[in-house]
Amino acid sequence: MRFGTKAIHAGVEPDPTTGAIMTPIYQTSTYVQESPGKHKGYEYSRTHNPTRTALQKALAALENGKHGICYASGLAATDAVLKLFRPGDEIIATNDLYGGTYRIMKRIFEPFGLVFRFVDMSQAGTVEAAITDQTRMIWIETPTNPLLKIIDVAAVAALARARGIMSVVDNTFASPYLQTPLDLGADVVMHSVTKYLGGHSDTVMGALVLNDDELAQQLAFIQNASGAVPGPQDCFLVLRGLKTLHLRMQRHCENAVRVAHWLHEHPKVGRVYYPGLPSHPGHELAARQMRAFGGMVSFELRGDVYEEAVRVMENLQVFSLGESLGGVESLCTHPASMTHASIPAAERAQAGLKDTLIRLSVGVEDVEDLIEDLAQAIG
Ligand SMILES: *Cc1c(COP(=O)(O)O)cnc(C)c1O
Repeated sequence: MRFGTKAIHAGVEPDPTTGAIMTPIYQTSTYVQESPGKHKGYEYSRTHNPTRTALQKALAALENGKHGICYASGLAATDAVLKLFRPGDEIIATNDLYGGTYRIMKRIFEPFGLVFRFVDMSQAGTVEAAITDQTRMIWIETPTNPLLKIIDVAAVAALARARGIMSVVDNTFASPYLQTPLDLGADVVMHSVTKYLGGHSDTVMGALVLNDDELAQQLAFIQNASGAVPGPQDCFLVLRGLKTLHLRMQRHCENAVRVAHWLHEHPKVGRVYYPGLPSHPGHELAARQMRAFGGMVSFELRGDVYEEAVRVMENLQVFSLGESLGGVESLCTHPASMTHASIPAAERAQAGLKDTLIRLSVGVEDVEDLIEDLAQAIG
């Protein structure tokens, strides 16, 4: 099946009792057993829930993986992955990444003895140089947040595989419509389902997709044993969101290309970060690795005056100022004070994240309205 057909049909079957075409919201905590231990495969909703099962199958199909496992948030999914490791184990992560991922690594798991090394994975050779005998996992995020650098997933995953190291890709920014990391050799795909997969800014959820049966069993064990599971209502909302993933992504990408080119030519705009621009250092790799260039665009104003960046963010009308991304509506974020405030200023600066950077999640509105809004806001 092709992507759009899978987005609509994968994992979903008419309800066996009524024929309902939409998977019901099984709002139940427990399931009645015929006799002790004799049941229909469902015992307690932390362990299994039919609405969640349908969603997990759909997500696995979209990422071309065998197993999908959903968690209460993207960070709960990341938390489950990190719980696979033990004191002394080393993890290499990209240095431009979601602020909360950095925070859970440094503030939650480092005190338990895990060792993290952050490197610029968009530069060849940095990962190999950081590998030691203790390296157990490589955490990739591409395109990176918020600088939209592109990391060569196939190259890093091959390097990891050759040394018996697990590779994980945070695929939140691309979504499986644009890239399927398992096909590029990665072991696990992680999603903040909250973003493009849900797509309507109404749910917080995370997911992991993978092929390895044993690893899937371990991660499902953590899902149940630690208990960070999404509720059935949220699973229903994401199942509904997935049905238009291909249509939304197509429009996000078309609109973002137009916005990026318009910003690039504006005299008051300095640097524009968008992998679809030929001037972007990762453009050729992105063209090879992704099916289009995504809906996220970051930029700085010429002169880098903080107050001017703030004025633009305050002036925007169609773009709403707020955290998050990937919803149908356009959003504008100030990473330094919002999504990336948990990364110390010195490390932000080292990674190239300026306090004047503005990040846009380009929505699926009429692009002319988005460009007119940016035009009035930049002035
Ligand atoms: C939002 C986000 C996360 C965290 O997901 P939550 O659902 O907010 O917990 C992780 N990675 C990226 C790239 C994100 O944008």
